[in-house]
Amino acid sequence: MYRIAFIDGDGIGPEISRATRLVLDALNSMLGIGMRLVDVEAGDAALARYGRALPEESLDAIMGSDACIKAPIGESAADVIVYLRRLLDLYANIRPVKAYPGMRALSDGIDMVIVRENTEDVYSGLEYDIGSDASIAIKVTTRRACMRIAEHAFRIARKRRRNGRRSVVAVHKANLLRRTDGLFARCCRDVASRYPDVRFSEMYVDACAMHLIRRPEEFDVIVTMNMYGDILSDEAAQIAGSLGAAPSANIGESYAIFEPAHGSAPDIAGKGIANPLSLILSSGMMYEWLAGRYGDERCARASALIEACVRSILSKGIMTPDMGGRSGTMDVAHAIVEELGHTGGVG
Ligand code: ATP
Repeated sequence: MYRIAFIDGDGIGPEISRATRLVLDALNSMLGIGMRLVDVEAGDAALARYGRALPEESLDAIMGSDACIKAPIGESAADVIVYLRRLLDLYANIRPVKAYPGMRALSDGIDMVIVRENTEDVYSGLEYDIGSDASIAIKVTTRRACMRIAEHAFRIARKRRRNGRRSVVAVHKANLLRRTDGLFARCCRDVASRYPDVRFSEMYVDACAMHLIRRPEEFDVIVTMNMYGDILSDEAAQIAGSLGAAPSANIGESYAIFEPAHGSAPDIAGKGIANPLSLILSSGMMYEWLAGRYGDERCARASALIEACVRSILSKGIMTPDMGGRSGTMDVAHAIVEELGHTGGVG
């Protein structure tokens, strides 16, 4: 029996969580997967209720689970997800970006994975005022973190077979940030030399932002530093059709948290039109991770089924307004469950 901590989140969080739970329940009962979703309170609602965005009890529940599914959190996100990423050493932030049929993507062939270092960089929280008119932020970069994120990216690239080609591009700004980004670039080159079957190249982050728009279908795996990855993955998600369909995973050695790449979208909260695909596809990544960790064939099937059903409903035009459709959040969830029924559990 898997114990999965489930954080409903803020803003559109509870709406897309409800949709995702419906899909998970249908999948688990169809495939006979023993999974208990444990409700965990965290975020703005928890802060208002208990005075802490991540109460002790919630942290205990997360520590006692196999993995966590987390909907977006509002203003207190840093106190929850940034804290958990560091506490649990979830060093790899994996953000797949894919254009499914029916999506308004810049190019039909978009299918890439952004592998973002998740623990260092200017997000380390080392910001200081110098007097009243100047401030500095420290960009932390260590060989250990660079080596392991590069390793992770090459391992992912090796598993992918896209157009018969496997490639990793390391994105940085080592021409200006010679020490920090320079160390990252050197580590990527080091790791690349051990993967002769994976094509390796480097790109400056500004050029990458441009090429993502000019020829997005040519990217396979991008490995990059924390802040560049944060920015480029939002850009890439929108290029593929919508940020509302963008999943992500925070992976460590023995634990992982799966969450949408987007925020709590307060502008559309409560309207029933939020796109639940980001959280549903994040759950698909969770099944894939469980499959790899426990050698569980049924979880591998669950992951493949989510992917197939999402592809199928989108090709029929069942999508929320952010993707150009007219369906509501729960319409999408019900359509996926119906689609699951048609597959008979064969992914
Ligand atoms: P954060 O800083 O936490 O990333 P943000 O306010 O910058 O938050 P988001 O909350 O991600 O950004 O929202 C950006 C835009 O994308 C908003 O217009 C929002 O409505 C839209 N959006 C985000 N997620 C979804 C979704 N699941 N469905 C539909 N629209 C979404």
